[in-house]
Amino acid sequence: MSLIRLHVADALAQGATLTLGEAQARYLAAVMRRSVGDAVLVFNGRDGEWQAAIATLAKGRATLAIGHRTRAQTSSPDLWLLAPVLKRETLEWMVEKATELGAARILAVTTERSAVTRTNPERLTAIAAEAAEQCERLDVPVVDAPQPLATVLAGWNPDRRLVVGDERGRSPPIADAIAGEAPGPWAVLVGPEGGFTARELDGLRKLPFCRLASLGPRILRAETAALSALAVLQALAGDWRDHHLA
Ligand code: SAH
Repeated sequence: MSLIRLHVADALAQGATLTLGEAQARYLAAVMRRSVGDAVLVFNGRDGEWQAAIATLAKGRATLAIGHRTRAQTSSPDLWLLAPVLKRETLEWMVEKATELGAARILAVTTERSAVTRTNPERLTAIAAEAAEQCERLDVPVVDAPQPLATVLAGWNPDRRLVVGDERGRSPPIADAIAGEAPGPWAVLVGPEGGFTARELDGLRKLPFCRLASLGPRILRAETAALSALAVLQALAGDWRDHHLA
């Protein structure tokens, strides 16, 4: 049985005492039925992962005694997801899965055909933190509030290549679009449920850092397309490869 992992905000060091928020305290007591003396793992995205023991646990309050460090801090590959704003449950699901797939940053974007334009960034960040706890990541992706795609692209660092899902063009298969590229940062962009407009795709095609790519002969839902592209990037250029070699 793997230990419960909790993402916390505070600094972590041997011998420190940490007070958990109400939600995490209730989770330990009421949901996971843990008690004083039980071990958990904690991480904050900066100081690695630490073993801790539950020191006190009473209604809605818990303290942890931090023991030894179990893993040094690592960071995720520099891989971003430009996530089209989708309906709430679908976007939440996409953020959870993108976190499992190791996205370092998730930028919500609106496009010409976006049917939904607002998100709850705090809730999405909490979902990303829970996914990081579950998948044994040591960092939590930043989840940005939605911005128009054009705004995000206007401030784009051209060193970061952007794979754009193009379902009806004659773009190369995604593996070919990535093969032969120099190492460096990447990002993934797919359209919302209604896809990109022809004008948007033409604009994207002209940007030197964009790599329009096909994800096969079937029309995927936006969330499937985004997560598939992240998986391909991790397999061909990201940390699935490092992990395999390690
Ligand atoms: N309603 C649109 C489909 C949109 S699918 C239509 O019928 O044309 C949502 C997004 O997923 C698309 O904008 C595209 O970026 C991505 N996508 C879906 N299937 C894809 C495929 N086979 N190849 C590349 N991108 C795909």
